[in-house]
Amino acid sequence: MKLQVSNTNAPVWRDVMVKSDLPAKLKPLEVLSRNLWWVWNSEGKSLFRDLNPDLWRAVGENPVMLLQQLGFERLQEILKDAKLMERIEKVYADFKAYMKVPMRKDVPSVSYFSMEYGLCNALKIYSGGLGVLAGDYIKEASDSCVDMTAVGFLYRYGYFTQTLSVDGQQIANYEPQDFNMLPLEQVLDADGKPTILEVPFPGRIVYSHIWRVNVGRMCLYLMDTDFDMNSEFDRQITHQLYGGDWENRIKQEYMLGIGGVLMLKKLGIKSELYHCNEGHAALLNLQRLVDYVQDDHLDFNTALEVVRASSLYTVHTPVPAGHDYFDEGLFGKYMGEFPQKLGISWSDLMNMGRENPDSPERFSMSVFALNTCQEANGVSWLHGEVSKKMFAGIWKGYNWAESHVGYVTNGVHMPTWAASEWKALYEEKLGAEMFQHQSDTKYWEKIYDVADKDIWALRTTMKNKFIDFVRRDFKEKWLKNAGDPTQVMSITEKINPNALIIGFARRFATYKRAHLLFSNLDRLAAIVNNPDRPVQFVFSGKAHPADGAGQGLIKRIVEISRMPQFLGKIIFLENYDMIVAKRLVSGVDIWLNTPTRPLEASGTSGEKAEMNGVLNFSVLDGWWYEGYKFCEEGGWALTDKRTFTDQGQQDKLDAEVIYTMLEKQIIPLYFENRKGGFSAEWVKYIKNSVAKIAPHFTMKRMIDDYIERFYDKEAKRYKKLHAHDFALAKEIVAWKEKVAQAWPGVHAVSVEEFNADPANTKAGEPFRTIIKLDANGLGHDLGVECVIYKIEDGQEKYEGREEFKMVGEEGNICTFELKTKLREAGTFRYAYRVYPKNAELPHRQDFAYVLWV
Ligand SMILES: *Cc1c(COP(=O)(O)O)cnc(C)c1O
Repeated sequence: MKLQVSNTNAPVWRDVMVKSDLPAKLKPLEVLSRNLWWVWNSEGKSLFRDLNPDLWRAVGENPVMLLQQLGFERLQEILKDAKLMERIEKVYADFKAYMKVPMRKDVPSVSYFSMEYGLCNALKIYSGGLGVLAGDYIKEASDSCVDMTAVGFLYRYGYFTQTLSVDGQQIANYEPQDFNMLPLEQVLDADGKPTILEVPFPGRIVYSHIWRVNVGRMCLYLMDTDFDMNSEFDRQITHQLYGGDWENRIKQEYMLGIGGVLMLKKLGIKSELYHCNEGHAALLNLQRLVDYVQDDHLDFNTALEVVRASSLYTVHTPVPAGHDYFDEGLFGKYMGEFPQKLGISWSDLMNMGRENPDSPERFSMSVFALNTCQEANGVSWLHGEVSKKMFAGIWKGYNWAESHVGYVTNGVHMPTWAASEWKALYEEKLGAEMFQHQSDTKYWEKIYDVADKDIWALRTTMKNKFIDFVRRDFKEKWLKNAGDPTQVMSITEKINPNALIIGFARRFATYKRAHLLFSNLDRLAAIVNNPDRPVQFVFSGKAHPADGAGQGLIKRIVEISRMPQFLGKIIFLENYDMIVAKRLVSGVDIWLNTPTRPLEASGTSGEKAEMNGVLNFSVLDGWWYEGYKFCEEGGWALTDKRTFTDQGQQDKLDAEVIYTMLEKQIIPLYFENRKGGFSAEWVKYIKNSVAKIAPHFTMKRMIDDYIERFYDKEAKRYKKLHAHDFALAKEIVAWKEKVAQAWPGVHAVSVEEFNADPANTKAGEPFRTIIKLDANGLGHDLGVECVIYKIEDGQEKYEGREEFKMVGEEGNICTFELKTKLREAGTFRYAYRVYPKNAELPHRQDFAYVLWV
C-alpha cells in the first residue's frame, strides 16, 4: 500500500463570537456607550479612555468596541477599583440628569436633513467641514433643548481613510463597517425584528434599515440599503459618501429626500419645519408636496405654499459648479412618476429646477431647493452676499442686493472642540454658567483676569501633548508604510516644543491654496532653520479621490518635507480625521488658512482653534472676514483687496505677504521680549482672541441665529397658513392665481415726470412722478416703486427703492404718485417697477412678477 504524506478532510470550523459579558454593575457603561453624549463631556470621554488607554486608541475611540473587547480580567479589575467605580457612577448620574431636562416648547420642532454628519471618529459618515458642521449642530440642538430630529445615511464604507505611499501618493482605502460594533442602535419593530422602510423607486421598492444614533437628547436616524432584500445595484446607494457615478448620486439624493420623509412618517415623527443642509436633500420637499396632495387633498399650488412656508435651505457652496445638476434623461428615469402624483406636467417639474424655465437646462438641486423653501441662507456674511449674486438669475425682476437670501455664520460646538484642559480653565476662571451662555462675551472677558503665566502653561501643556501625538502617530504610520526606520527617529526628534508651530489642515481642494507657502523654498528654508527662532509646519488633509490636482498638492508637500532642509520642520500627518483635527487645533500656535477669496464659504477649523487659544492667520474670507474685525490684535489677516485679476499673479503676491508677515510681525511677536520664558504680547493676543473672537463663533450663537432669523419667523407664518384647514394658504393661492391671470393685461397708460432736466439737477430738488396704470382689475393688489441705482466707477450699484402712493382710481385706471427729493449728489439711474402687493407674502421673491413701465 502506498503511504501518503498526509491524509485529511476539510476541517469543520464552528464560529463562536465571544463578547465581553458586562457584569451588572458595569451596565451603566453600556448605556453610556450608546449615546454620543460622552463625545463632548470630558469626564465621560476620559472614563472610557481610562478603562484601557491602548485599546481606546486602537479601536479609534469607539466605546462599543472597547466594551466588547475588554478582557474578563480587566473587567474584574475595574469592579475592584473603587475610584473607577465611583467615576462610573458619577458620570452615569451626570448623564441621567442631562437627559431628564425636557425639550423647549417655545422653539419650533425641526427635521434636519444632511448627507453627512461628523459626530465622532468612530462613526465614519462624514468627509469634512459640511459633516462636522451638521454633527456640531445637532449636538448643540441637544444642549439647547431644541426639538430636532436629524436624517442621514449609515454608509457601509463611509468616506475613505488615507494612507500615503513612500513617494507621497494618496491611497484611498474603503473599509467596510460592522454596524454592530458602532455606537448606534437598530430601530426594531414590535416583534424585535429590524424595521424595514419601503421606498418606492421606479419599477421596484428599495428597502432600508433604520439606525438611531443617540446624540444626547436628540436622535439622528440613518438609512442603510446594504442588505439582501435589495439588488446589488441598490445596495450601493449607501456604500460611499460622495462616491459612485451620477446615477448613484441621484439614487442617494432620492433616498435621502424622498426616503427620509417616508422614514420620519414611519417613525411617527412630525416636525413643524424642515431644514435642508445643502442641496443634496432638497427632494424631501417633493415628497412633502406629494403628501399634502395625497393625504390632505390640497391642490399643487396650495401644497407648495404650505411646503415653502415650512422649509429652510442652507447653501454651503459659493460657486454654481459646486451644485448638483442632473440631466433631464437621468432625472426622468427616477422622477417620472412624480408629475402625475402632483397633478402637474413633466415640464412643470423640470422647471422647478431651472433658473430659466422652459430652457434645456439640467435640473439643479439648488434651484429646486430655492423654489420650494421660503427662506435660504449662506454660511457667513460674505458668503450670504456671494449667494445673493449666485442666485440672482432666478428672480429676474430684482437686483441681487434685494434678495431675501440671508446668512448665518457657521460656528463650532465648543464642548466638542475645546480641549478638556481648556474647558477646565473656562469652568474654573470664567464660571460654569458660561457653558449655558457661550455666546455671551461677558463671560469670556474674564479670561483677562487669568495670569499670563497660567495661559502660557496651558498652551505649553497642549503643545507637548500634541508633539507626543505627532511623534507617535507619525512613527506608526511611517513604519506601516514601509518607511526607513532609521530616518523616522531623526525626523520626530527634530519636532521642537520651543518652535513656533503652524498648522494647516483641511481638504486639499485647490482653492484652499496649500501650495502658497511653498512658492519660495529658499525663503521658507530660512524661516524654518533660524536656530534662534525656529518655526515648524504641520500639514494634514485628504484630497477627493477624483481630484488629481488636490492629490498632486499632497504629493508635492510630502516631497518637500523629505528635502534635507525641511526634514522634521515640515510634517505631513496622514489621514486627517476628527481625532487628528482636535489634536491640531489645540496643539499648534497658529492656524493658517489661505483660500482664494471668496471660495471659502465659511470654514470652521479656525473657529475650533479659537476655542483653544490658538491664533488665526488667514485670508479675510468666510468666517474670518467677520472674526478678525472683532479684534485686530487677536490674529492676523491677509488683506481682502485683490490686486491682480490673474490668479497666478495674485498667488505670488499673497505668498510674499505671508512670508513678510511671518518674518516681520508674527515670529518676532512670539520670540521677542520674553520674560519668564514667554512673550507677554503673545499671551495678550491669545486673551484677545478668546475674549473678543471665540464667543461669536460657537454653535450656541449659530443655533440662536437660526431660531431668531428663520425658525421662529417661518413657524409663525406656517401656523397661520395651516390653520382652519389651510384657509390662508388657499386664500394666498387664489390671490396669486388671480394676479397671474390678469398680469398680461396690466400696462401703463401714462408716465408723467415733473422733474428738472436730468443733465442739470441739484441735490435737494423735488422729484415727482405720476403713473397711470390700466390695472386690469388688480388695482389695490399692485405696488409701484422707483428703483434707484447709483453709478460709481462705471458700475451700477443698487441704492434702494421708493414706493408710490395710490392717489386715484377710476374704473380700471389707477393713478400712482411719487413725491420725493433728490438727496445725494452723484450719477444715478432709475426705473419704475410694478409688482403684486400682498402683506401675507414673506418677501418679493415669493412671487416675483414684475412689470417695468
Ligand atoms: C473641522 C473639520 C473640517 C472643516 O475644516 P475647514 O476649516 O472648514 O476646512 C474638515 N475636516 C475635519 C476632520 C474637521 O474636523
